[in-house]
Amino acid sequence: MTSDPKPVGVAVLGYGNVGSEVVRIIESSAADLTARIGAPLVLRGIGVRRVNANRGVPIELLTDDIDELVTRDDVDIVVELMGPVEPSRKAILSAIEHGKSVVTANKALLAGSTGELARAAERAHVDLYFEASVAGAIPVIRPLTQSLAGDSVLRVIGIVNGTTNYILSEMETTGADYASALADASTLGYAEADPTADVDGYDAASKAAILASIAFHTTVTADDVYREGITAITTEDFASAQALNCTIKLLALCERIVDEDGREMVSARVYPALVPAAHPLATVGGAFNAVVVEAEAAGRLMFYGQGAGGAPTASAVTGDIVMAARNRVQGGRGPRESKYAQLPIAPIGKVSTRYYVSMDVADRSGVLSAVAAEFANHGVSIAEVRQEGVVADSGERVGARIVVVTHRATEAALADTITALEELDVVANVASVLRLEGTDP
Ligand code: NAP
Repeated sequence: MTSDPKPVGVAVLGYGNVGSEVVRIIESSAADLTARIGAPLVLRGIGVRRVNANRGVPIELLTDDIDELVTRDDVDIVVELMGPVEPSRKAILSAIEHGKSVVTANKALLAGSTGELARAAERAHVDLYFEASVAGAIPVIRPLTQSLAGDSVLRVIGIVNGTTNYILSEMETTGADYASALADASTLGYAEADPTADVDGYDAASKAAILASIAFHTTVTADDVYREGITAITTEDFASAQALNCTIKLLALCERIVDEDGREMVSARVYPALVPAAHPLATVGGAFNAVVVEAEAAGRLMFYGQGAGGAPTASAVTGDIVMAARNRVQGGRGPRESKYAQLPIAPIGKVSTRYYVSMDVADRSGVLSAVAAEFANHGVSIAEVRQEGVVADSGERVGARIVVVTHRATEAALADTITALEELDVVANVASVLRLEGTDP
C-alpha cells in the first residue's frame, strides 16, 4: 500500500493585484495542480499589512507577522508578492535560510542586488524562481535559462513596460501630445499616480538588468543600465518617424558587443528609439509587451503577450510555484544562477547604433555641405539626408530644417558630432536626436 504524498505548504506574501490572483488559481485549480505536482498544494497563510480588511479569504489565513509565516515548519514554498524592496528582501532571505524555496515577482529587488538572493538559495540548496519579474505572463526567463542553455544569446530587445507602450501608441494613433496621452493612461489605470518609475525608464531598466544578467551570464544591476525615458518625445518626433516609415518605442536592449580592442562586453540600455514598421516590435501596441531574443544558432525568437495585470502575472507566478513544488516532491532543483562569464559592462559611449538627427538651420546655400562635413569629421557616415523648408501658418517660408539618418556609429562619435553641429553658425539648434534600432547597418 502506498501512502498519500506529503502536501507542499505555500505561504503567499501580499494579497494585492497579483497575490489575490495567485491564491485564486491555487484554490480553483487545486485538483489539476495536485496532479501536475504529484502532491497537494496547501495554502498555509497569506502575509499582508492589514489583517482585518474584508478580503474574501478566511481570516485565519491572514497574518501581518511575515517573520513568523516564512519560518513555519509546514511552509515549503514562500511566494513574495509584496513589492517594496524591504521587507521583501529580509523575508526572502529568512525563508531561504529556513530551507524554503522562493518565488518572487520583485524586479526592483532582483535588479538592485548583485545576486545576494541567488547565493543564499545556492547555499541553502533551495530554489529561487522569478519568471514574473519580467514581462508579466510572458515566458522569457525560463526560455533564456533553460531552452536556450545550449545556444549563445547575441541580443535581447524588448518592450517591457506596458504603461509607456500605451502612451507612445496613443501619441502615434491619435496625434495626442505626451501630457494628454499620460493623462489618458492614468484615467484608464495604466499609469500610477506617480508615473516616474515607468515614464523615466526605471522599471524597464530593472527588467533589462535581469534579462542581461541571464542572457550573458554576467552580474548586471539596474545601476549598470543606461537609461532615458519617454518624457521628451514630441508629436514632431512621431511625424518624423512616420516620414521614415518607423514608429517610436521605449526599448530595453541587452547586447553582447565587442569593442575596438576586441574585448567582449555587455551593454544594457533603455531608451526611446525609432523602430522600422517592418520590425516585429513595431506592431506591439497598447499595454502589451514583447521580447525578441536573437541567438547564434536559434536566430530570432519573439515572445509576446500581457506584460502586467493580476491574472496574467499570477499565471507566471503559479508556473514557478509548480516548478518549485515538483522539485520538492520529486527531488532535485531548478537551474542555479549562472554568472560564469562576468563580462565587463560597456559604457554607453562604446555602443554603436544608427541615429536620426534633425536640426533647424539657416535658409541659405552651403549649409548642407557644412553640416555633412561635421558628420564626416567625426567618422559618422550619413545614410540619408533631407533638407526641407519650414513654413509658417501664413504659408511663408521662415527657415529650413535638415534631417540626417546615419549608418552605424558609436554613441561617443555621435555625441561629438552633435556638439560640433551646435557650434556651427548655420545651425540654429539640434531639434531632435533619436536612435534607430532594429535595422541592418
Ligand atoms: P499590490 O497590489 O500593491 O499588493 C501588495 C500587497 O503586499 C498588499 O496585499 C499589501 O498588503 C502587501 N504588502 C506590502 N507591503 C507589505 C509589508 N510591509 N508587510 C506585509 N504586507 C505588505 O502589488 P501587486 O501589483 O500585486 O505587485 C506585487 C509584486 O508583483 C510587486 O513586486 C510587483 O512589482 C510585481 N509585479 C506586479 C505586476 C502587476 O501587474 N501588478 C506585474 C509584474 C510584477 P495590504 O493589502 O495590507 O496593503
